[in-house]
Amino acid sequence: MFRLCVVGSGGVGKSSLTIRYLKNEFTEYYDPTLEETYRKEIEYNGRLYEVEIVDTAGQEEYSSFRDSSVATGDAFLVLFAINSVSSWHELKDLRSKIIQDRQLTSAIPMVLVGNKLDLEEEREVNKDEVLEYCNSADVNIPLIETSAKTGLNVEESFQLMMQQIQRIQPSLFERAAPKSQGNKAPKKPDCLLV
Ligand code: GDP
Ligand code: MG
Repeated sequence: MFRLCVVGSGGVGKSSLTIRYLKNEFTEYYDPTLEETYRKEIEYNGRLYEVEIVDTAGQEEYSSFRDSSVATGDAFLVLFAINSVSSWHELKDLRSKIIQDRQLTSAIPMVLVGNKLDLEEEREVNKDEVLEYCNSADVNIPLIETSAKTGLNVEESFQLMMQQIQRIQPSLFERAAPKSQGNKAPKKPDCLLV
């Protein structure tokens, strides 16, 4: 089992994204103070991995994460909302804080998520600016834009996270593969008549 933390400023849609992914539901009303941990078997490349998903809350209050659930996170979906430039600026601070707390920059799988894509007409955050940040040499993390409201790219954001883990920290998969049956055998190529 490994812990995947969903982080970002208040109101960016951490709970909404998590609930959309787990239950395929959306509501306008989530308790902003609530932190919740879920378990989910995520299928990736034909195998099942048991993952703890932590929908975090209240990071604003921590100057360091040492005392928060974020300290024990193995991988991070780092969210901002495309219609909130302040959430974008806070995301950059948040990412730095996570890394400083670990002092293990490259070993932390992260995916940057720009949520509320359905509110394109209210966009305050320029996508090119975000991409430039993501692609800079000292950051180098993938970006995906999502809508927890419509469900667009929600599944994909978690799959992208699994790809990042494979790329950066594949040992996490060894901790997360259920020991029981359920993992499909690798698919054999179909027979060819020559
Ligand atoms: P959290 O504080 O980061 O957990 O944010 P919430 O998930 O509680 O969402 C805050 C508010 O934004 C709620 O009213 C949600 O309904 C709304 N919200 C979340 N995601 C989206 C989205 O993708 N599109 C729109 N339009 N609203 C969203
Ligand atoms: Mg929440």
